[in-house]
Amino acid sequence: MCRLCQINPVYEFTNKRKLCGRCFIHYFEKKVLYTLRKFSLIKRDDIVGYKKENNFKSAVLEEILRFISEKSGINIVRLPNKQANKIAVDSSIDPEAEKVIKELIRGNAVNLKKNLPVEGKIIKPLYLFLDEEILLYAKLKKLKFSIEKETKDKIGRFIGESEKNHPEIKRAIVNSLLELYL
Ligand SMILES: [Zn+2]
Repeated sequence: MCRLCQINPVYEFTNKRKLCGRCFIHYFEKKVLYTLRKFSLIKRDDIVGYKKENNFKSAVLEEILRFISEKSGINIVRLPNKQANKIAVDSSIDPEAEKVIKELIRGNAVNLKKNLPVEGKIIKPLYLFLDEEILLYAKLKKLKFSIEKETKDKIGRFIGESEKNHPEIKRAIVNSLLELYL
């Protein structure tokens, strides 16, 4: 049952906490606002640009930027048609953790700062979410998107396998990175 309103859950966290659809949407949007504050992603006079693609992460990024814009009045524009001083991308825990592991395996640790929530003009409002959470949000909000088949390379498959035994491994990698640099 949903921890808050005792109806059927749509999501269960690894710590067994469960949420219904409405509470999940609320959790997701609150966490976006927390991410913006925590990493100072956006200032009031920023113009935030984003690219529109057909996949679910791009659809959620657009929805979330609209949500932020309504809340705080910041300007959002679609690239490449307009000029922006910040560029929002749809990156999340999964690709960031994967990139960190790849860079460590290749002995490229100098590049790790690229995997933080802000990198110059680039900001990552979905930084603290798993892809499965982003997909669920897209479905619950009935956003339009098309499913793309993901092809994983060797390291990607290795991480996927590790996660079956250690469900929090990707989140742990991203958290360690944040502790290291922020
Ligand atoms: Zn609920």
